[in-house]
Amino acid sequence: MSSRAVREAKWYEKLSDGKVRCRLCPWNCVLEPGRVGLCGVRMNREGSLFTLVYGLVSSLAIDPIEKKPLYHFYPGAPILSISTVGCNLKCPWCQNWHISRAKPEEALTEYLEPSMIVKLARRYDVPFVAYTYNEPLIWYEYVADTAKLVKQEGGFNVLVTNGHANPEPLEELLKYIDAANVDVKAFEPKTYLKIIGGKLENILESIKIMKEKDVHVETTYLVVPGINDNEEEFRKMVRWHIDELGPETPLHISRFFPAYKFADKNSTPTELLTKFWALAKSEGVYYVYLGNVPGHKGEYTFCSHCEKPVVKRMGFEIFEWNIEGGNKCKFCGATIHIRGERWRRSSRDFPLVF
Ligand code: SF4
Repeated sequence: MSSRAVREAKWYEKLSDGKVRCRLCPWNCVLEPGRVGLCGVRMNREGSLFTLVYGLVSSLAIDPIEKKPLYHFYPGAPILSISTVGCNLKCPWCQNWHISRAKPEEALTEYLEPSMIVKLARRYDVPFVAYTYNEPLIWYEYVADTAKLVKQEGGFNVLVTNGHANPEPLEELLKYIDAANVDVKAFEPKTYLKIIGGKLENILESIKIMKEKDVHVETTYLVVPGINDNEEEFRKMVRWHIDELGPETPLHISRFFPAYKFADKNSTPTELLTKFWALAKSEGVYYVYLGNVPGHKGEYTFCSHCEKPVVKRMGFEIFEWNIEGGNKCKFCGATIHIRGERWRRSSRDFPLVF
């Protein structure tokens, strides 16, 4: 692990006896000297709080933006996706547990200055950067520095996050963030506290803050059998989504596959996913999607007015586009809530200085 990765953290206060309190996320960990927070990447060293992962990149890839998933933000765009290690939640079904549960000193990582991320994005002509795979909010200092640089260069920043942050640091970071996909992993506070290891009310608050700050938001609800697949719980989540985020905010319902401590469980039945997809639509969410169910019509965007398919997808690929003038349904002219143009490699007139 590079010594350059250890930097004084933001958002903490010094207490008596050399202790510190981290103020980054709702756990507000109080740490004695030598101790690491619940996220595993912030440490009290001699009475000051340090991040252990500044610039430590565990994964780097260029993904389709639909993989985040974001379906209504520059559809079809490629996005440079980076991560570090650690997490401030403890989902027992985590698909990326190899990095979310890894310790900074044990993981295979590469040290990359923020300027290197910009250089890579330029080299591959990709003006979108996602902080993803593990929880980016606990990578705060590096994400903030990188995102600031990306914005200065005319690019766009995306968070794929669990939303488990305190309002003040989140608001500060959102100055540089253009879009986010936030997981709502359950809608029962007890499930969050006992199984996921987080506080639902803080997460819901984070999503509302993002909307207030005009960040483009889409949410994801991974349906895990026996955990959050109760119909009433799902309906409550959908009603909150409509009331607080608006019916035009896309909702992704995702299929669980066995992983990590849930490696012996069954995948979510597609019948249940289809039922939830129909339920969310009938409650009034305009854009409801099914994730991890390739070939299902839940991958399509339907016009909320005439109900015709305006975007057809298979996996992360768009194969039919029936939107005109940037955001109008080709069939009836109603508005389709999409931010940014459909991305095409040949769009050299795209308004970027990147
Ligand atoms: S970010 Fe980490 S150290 Fe800080 S409060 Fe959250 S879990 Fe604790």
